[in-house]
Amino acid sequence: MNKRKFLQTLLATGSVVLVAKRYIPAGTPAPAPDTTPRTLAAPAPSAAMPAGLNPTLEAATAKEEFELMMQQESELRPGFKHSERAQTGEVMMQQLPNETVDQYLEKIRNYDHTFASDIYLRDANTKLLVPTIARLDRIQSFVGHANFNLISFEEILYFARNYPEIGKFEKTEMDFMDEIFHADATTYGFFGEKITPDIKHRILQKDVVKIDGTGHYLMRGESLTHYQQIHKDVGNELTLTSGIRNNVKQLHLFLAKTFQSEGNLSRASRSLAPPGHSFHGVGDFDVGKVGMGEQNFTADFAATKEYRRLINLGYVDIRYTDTNKFGVRYEPWHIKIENDSVAHCSHGSSPCTA
Ligand SMILES: [Zn+2]
Repeated sequence: MNKRKFLQTLLATGSVVLVAKRYIPAGTPAPAPDTTPRTLAAPAPSAAMPAGLNPTLEAATAKEEFELMMQQESELRPGFKHSERAQTGEVMMQQLPNETVDQYLEKIRNYDHTFASDIYLRDANTKLLVPTIARLDRIQSFVGHANFNLISFEEILYFARNYPEIGKFEKTEMDFMDEIFHADATTYGFFGEKITPDIKHRILQKDVVKIDGTGHYLMRGESLTHYQQIHKDVGNELTLTSGIRNNVKQLHLFLAKTFQSEGNLSRASRSLAPPGHSFHGVGDFDVGKVGMGEQNFTADFAATKEYRRLINLGYVDIRYTDTNKFGVRYEPWHIKIENDSVAHCSHGSSPCTA
């Protein structure tokens, strides 16, 4: 499905004023206003990505491409050398058989652009996108934003079933969420591993700590101590902007990003790990500068003195560097926590503590 088709399908459902306002051609009557409360934010202003590598490679094989990409490391700043930060289970570049490295890097640097090879939601799911996001919005309002970070799939079904102001999930919505969660994200162009593969993965209150004034939680153990150390060393202008996120929260973010991306799943996955693939599920967290709001999630954060201090500490790793192999944009705000217990996260019945 292409962008035009996506918009036509959305408009045919008659429920999307947000989109209609932007895309209905002149002279076309707008659909009836939708009174459903929404928390969909306007897309963040796309910031220019930092200048970096621009290799012009004609690698014959994925392996050569990978090696050539690694060679470019000499041009990277300290703290961004992924060879120093190799991790087990990282997906290899062999999964890019038909792409040259420069094409790949072009995509992650222009993450918010549309590319010919991008994959879109299919028709039936496009119709389910808005009602599913709206129901998840209602659950988030009901339980609170902080709790929504932790909530499990079974808990949202419980709340939806028992509270008429949320309303039970339709079977089609359940199937849609299930399909998105279990989809092979490599088809979108996302190459990260599945971190919390059980859709019912649970995060227990006893294993997390709420960070005052942030509305976010961190895992006890390495995540918490790492954050406390960073906060102490960088100063009070540095804050937690997102901590632990369970599969439901990541699904909600991913669907909202897919909506902003006009149904383009590939474009969404260049900005955000698809549900089940986020290291926020097991300990990674995001930091930002106090008062910068959503701008913290743009390359502007890398221009702050807090970021400079952060990167000069010498003990902080960034998960998604500007040459990362996951298929994701550069995220200078996303702090990587080593977590050897990832493999134990697949059972979904108890949390993964670092
Ligand atoms: Zn993050």
